[in-house]
Amino acid sequence: MDATVGIPPAVSEETEPFWTAAKEGRLLVEQCPACGAESFPPRGICRSCHARPTRFAEVTGRGVVYSLTVNHQRWMPDLEVPYTVVLVEFPGRPGVRVTGRLRGCPPEDAAIGMEVEIGFEPGPGGFAIPSFVAAR
Ligand SMILES: [Zn+2]
Repeated sequence: MDATVGIPPAVSEETEPFWTAAKEGRLLVEQCPACGAESFPPRGICRSCHARPTRFAEVTGRGVVYSLTVNHQRWMPDLEVPYTVVLVEFPGRPGVRVTGRLRGCPPEDAAIGMEVEIGFEPGPGGFAIPSFVAAR
């Protein structure tokens, strides 16, 4: 697996549990203890009721591609192009939309509405960052 190049993510007190779980291959989203709303990316405040979320929920199962873009631009010398970046939604989790690279699927076969599995790949600074694998 080739590492994605780029700038290491900023880790704050609010997002630290997310990055820790990511290294274990688990995708966490913020869950508001007051109203139950979920949000991703973690932002430390509930977008519905403005409470401060103190807990995380794990997202499992397949997601569905909501939108996608194919990148042909070689932003960094060791970036392999083209590749697809997808925005993925999860059934029953309206506040959660996760962006990541799509793997295991050539860009010309990527489509809105296709099902994907959550995966992670090594990112800058030793962080695991979300990516997706086409579901079969
Ligand atoms: Zn809330």
